[in-house]
Amino acid sequence: MSLEDFPIPEIGDDDLLLEVIMCGVDGSELAMYRGAFEYVNDRVPVIFGDEIIGRVAQIGTAAAARRGLAVGDRVVVEARWPCAEGCHTCNRGQYYLCERRGLKNGYGTLSAKEAPHLWGGYSTHTFVPPEAVVYPVPHDLSDRTALIACSPFANGIRWAEATDVAAGGHIAVIGPGPQGLSCALAAIATGRRATLIGLEADSERLKLAEGFGATTFVTTRDSDPDAIVQTAADIVAQHGPVDAVIEVSGSPAGKALAMHVVRALGTVVSSASPNPSTQPFDWRLLMWKEITLKGRISHPNTVETAFEKARELRDRGVDVGDWITHVFPLDDVAGAIRTAAYQTEERPIKVALDPSA
Ligand SMILES: [Zn+2]
Repeated sequence: MSLEDFPIPEIGDDDLLLEVIMCGVDGSELAMYRGAFEYVNDRVPVIFGDEIIGRVAQIGTAAAARRGLAVGDRVVVEARWPCAEGCHTCNRGQYYLCERRGLKNGYGTLSAKEAPHLWGGYSTHTFVPPEAVVYPVPHDLSDRTALIACSPFANGIRWAEATDVAAGGHIAVIGPGPQGLSCALAAIATGRRATLIGLEADSERLKLAEGFGATTFVTTRDSDPDAIVQTAADIVAQHGPVDAVIEVSGSPAGKALAMHVVRALGTVVSSASPNPSTQPFDWRLLMWKEITLKGRISHPNTVETAFEKARELRDRGVDVGDWITHVFPLDDVAGAIRTAAYQTEERPIKVALDPSA
């Protein structure tokens, strides 16, 4: 990681330039920092950062008219954007999976070699092309609340919805990072019960979840099959049958536990990339329990709902903006990533960067 200067780009009639207020540090960036994503390694230098809240610094006339924005307005941007042509997935509303642009082309993953270079939120400025999806931030939401709402919490809303569990039902969430917390909170906010499952080291995050009404369960990373069967039985004994699981730990033990703990005819939503990606998987459970297995990535068309829900929750005393416990300046990005990855003594809930810090 190093600080580099790029020229402020010329803004076209339908472009805009953001001054970054804050950028979230997320789990995929911890993996990218370790060099775990080959396609990102091939693109260096890359400006990380796809959870971005900023202020409009410059805007073209057409963009201002079309987007209803002016210099100074606060906005969030989505990490990916639809193609201009309209493809199979974009037409069905899932522009993160655009067939023309692909999942790998957006904020935080495009090469900084590609003009106008400013393709990430770990920066003072971010370029916003015409196709990018931009939402104005409601005046009554703080920067921090809007930042959590626009990405992790928007994910949580969509992924909890994907479980198809009705009000009163029970969702287990494996992995208590900001995504897992968001899933549990979204489930509870819509009348479902949530049990958040984590490790000993996650005690701060689990405590937070108990504060907003989740039940919690502490387990180990043990991926021994017998241990996982026992853990699943313990969870059900303590917290009741599990109608659906959202697996966001990405660990082998987490993936296996999801299939064991869910009740027959239940749903498993997998929303974290397993690392390594070639984990063993017991296909028999899928059939023996008639499990519905779904993958969900990101949060197309959910940011505005997330803003509304975050406001409602804040007014009831649960402000997702409070989850940002650690803020770093741009010249200590490596420190931010190490902190988020639990490589220091700190146990953050959520880490963010503030270029003005
Ligand atoms: Zn497309």
